[in-house]
Amino acid sequence: MRKNIVAGNWKMNKTLQEGLALATELNAALEGATLKCDVVIGTPFIHLAAVAAAVNTKVVGVAAQNCADKASGAYTGEVSAAMLKSTGAEYVILGHSERREYYGETSAILNSKVELALANGLTPIYCCGEALDVRNANEQNAYVQKQLEETVFNLSADDFAKIVIAYEPIWAIGTGVTASTEQAQEMLAFIRTLIAEKFGKDMAENTSILYGGSCNAKNAPELFAQPDIDGGLIGGASLKVEDFKAIIDAF
Ligand code: PEP
Repeated sequence: MRKNIVAGNWKMNKTLQEGLALATELNAALEGATLKCDVVIGTPFIHLAAVAAAVNTKVVGVAAQNCADKASGAYTGEVSAAMLKSTGAEYVILGHSERREYYGETSAILNSKVELALANGLTPIYCCGEALDVRNANEQNAYVQKQLEETVFNLSADDFAKIVIAYEPIWAIGTGVTASTEQAQEMLAFIRTLIAEKFGKDMAENTSILYGGSCNAKNAPELFAQPDIDGGLIGGASLKVEDFKAIIDAF
């Protein structure tokens, strides 16, 4: 059965000390509480090992925000999937629009990253989503379909069963503009239909699909109540325990 997941994406925020304090505070707020979703925090690389050691990873899962598209070797500055796994991280966010846009991540690069993440026992949280001009042209479905077909739809059924999808319309990320509940539900239902066509109905029913883009304590209850929205990928609102916890409690 698919899981509800609320995953934070800290992006390039928080020093090591600040990040440790945030993770520890979140862990204390959640440990012992009855949660209706899995909780994950996506930290910068340098925080991963310390954060994974500081939290109960059964309560607060730890995610990296990227990994190398190569297994190992002379790739200065890169961090491999095997290295991530060795920190205690269990997830990796891949294909975030900021990585695609600012760091030129293509579908070919993402295929390698997803493959290496899976081979090293990490759960990819695979992001997709269209820019505003695509939405204005009403071409968002074809755009997202292509993103999936070029990447995660190439996986075997066994591997696809291990991933989480996050739909994040670029025009809603960090802008304060959330997709309407109808827009988000419509797209997630569409993605689920595509999964059913490609891998079968059971796979579609069992895949967790998240919405991301200016999700906050106010809009989360309505978004999470939709039949195809299994949780959120949360940027800005994951940087304060109070805000993030309120989203977690929206389930
Ligand atoms: C994100 O970066 O994945 C995101 C959803 O950001 P925000 O919540 O700040 O829009």
